[in-house]
Amino acid sequence: MKLLVNAKIFPSTKSQSILINKNKIIFIGDETEINISLNTSDIIDCNNNTVLPGFIDAHCHPFEIISNKSSIDLSGYKFNSKNELKNYLSNVNTKNKKTLKFHGFEHRNINDRLDLSFFDNLNINIPLMIKHRTGHLVFLNTLALKHSKLDINKHDFPINSLAIHKKITLEENLNFEKNLNNYNQNLIQFGYTTIVDAGVENDKKKYNKYQDLIYSNQISPNVCYMLGQKNPGQFENSPINDNLYLGPTKFMFQENMDIQEIENSLKDFLSINKSDLAFHAISSEMIFKILYTLFEKLNKYLGKRIIRLEHATEFIADSYKEYSSKNLHLIFNPNFIYDHGDFYLKHQDDFAIESLFGIKDSLRNNFKIGFGTDSPFGSINPMKIISSAKNRTTKNNNLIGENNKINFEQIINAFTKGNATAMKKQNVIGSIESNKNADIIILNDQITNKTNPDQLQVNHTIINGESKYIREIS
Ligand SMILES: [Zn+2]
Repeated sequence: MKLLVNAKIFPSTKSQSILINKNKIIFIGDETEINISLNTSDIIDCNNNTVLPGFIDAHCHPFEIISNKSSIDLSGYKFNSKNELKNYLSNVNTKNKKTLKFHGFEHRNINDRLDLSFFDNLNINIPLMIKHRTGHLVFLNTLALKHSKLDINKHDFPINSLAIHKKITLEENLNFEKNLNNYNQNLIQFGYTTIVDAGVENDKKKYNKYQDLIYSNQISPNVCYMLGQKNPGQFENSPINDNLYLGPTKFMFQENMDIQEIENSLKDFLSINKSDLAFHAISSEMIFKILYTLFEKLNKYLGKRIIRLEHATEFIADSYKEYSSKNLHLIFNPNFIYDHGDFYLKHQDDFAIESLFGIKDSLRNNFKIGFGTDSPFGSINPMKIISSAKNRTTKNNNLIGENNKINFEQIINAFTKGNATAMKKQNVIGSIESNKNADIIILNDQITNKTNPDQLQVNHTIINGESKYIREIS
């Protein structure tokens, strides 16, 4: 048993007590109504700070995050010419390194084409891999191509990361244990109690890996695992439980794919498969292709399935309002406003920037919404989701889409209950209620209208009824 006292369960400002037995919340209310005796060590004083359901990251890529911890982050750098890039790369210390890896790279400020010979001519004598900011493209040298067993004649340059995705994430990674531990520490100190692996290449092998990591307590939050779009049959009879379970099948269509082709491939899938569906849907054009195909052409195959639009960056709520009664869930990554907003301001020219992440417009039209970080491509810090959705300011303090600002209550709701609903887990997680899973976080303050989200921290994280993180307060 565990008793939380002086808990202000957001948005309520009343101090209450929460009683936990094993992994469940069994009582919420006045302490005087509880007549069981507890050890003092089982009592946690929340000090009248805000208490929330644990955060759910509805969309992230854990193995990429772990892999990036062995690679150099270029997201703070801006390269304006080939020469600037050459100077930077030629000066990186490669001593004792078997491969040289970077992530967070942006090439679009460089006017010249970056081809294979440019990277070979840097005279870096080990495999060199540079992942684009979005994670979808990889620049590399010939040694890295050989290392990944890729034939350059069969691919464009830079390489589409799907071709080498598995090789990057599962490649021999000497620091895997250390990086994993570091990542898990981040998760619990940020208050995540459930994360969703949204990889389009997810296969059974990676699922088994999660099983090992969860059973050996190396990953503390519960994990929802999306199925890769290829061969979902491989997951039949996979053991599932509250700590690791299967999510929707994740689809990613190439931007130039014809709408008829999309229809054919989805029709084939829907006629033999019952799983929920999640779509990589960043552009307005792809959003149209998916929604039109599903709801106008293949509606009779959908049944009670959940349809998720991952990213939903360019979703125009007013254009699709007739679909708000469908089982459609929009998963936004508002932290991208902070992380990539300044880049969008410069390069987004075929879509009205004010309408990016139309979160308030979507709520006004009664759409169901949830939030994911898309880390490592967006910040893993949940307070960046909160501050971006609330303030909509970029790293350089530019404002994007003022009319789509939403308030704390709407944000927390999307980040907890909305995400749980998009996973069909709303009866188990996503809110603090009797009989729900005891996934609870205590903040360092009470949230009011005046609170600056960037000042918020998690003091205590409880996952499945167990204290996994307690912040040291100096
Ligand atoms: Zn993603």
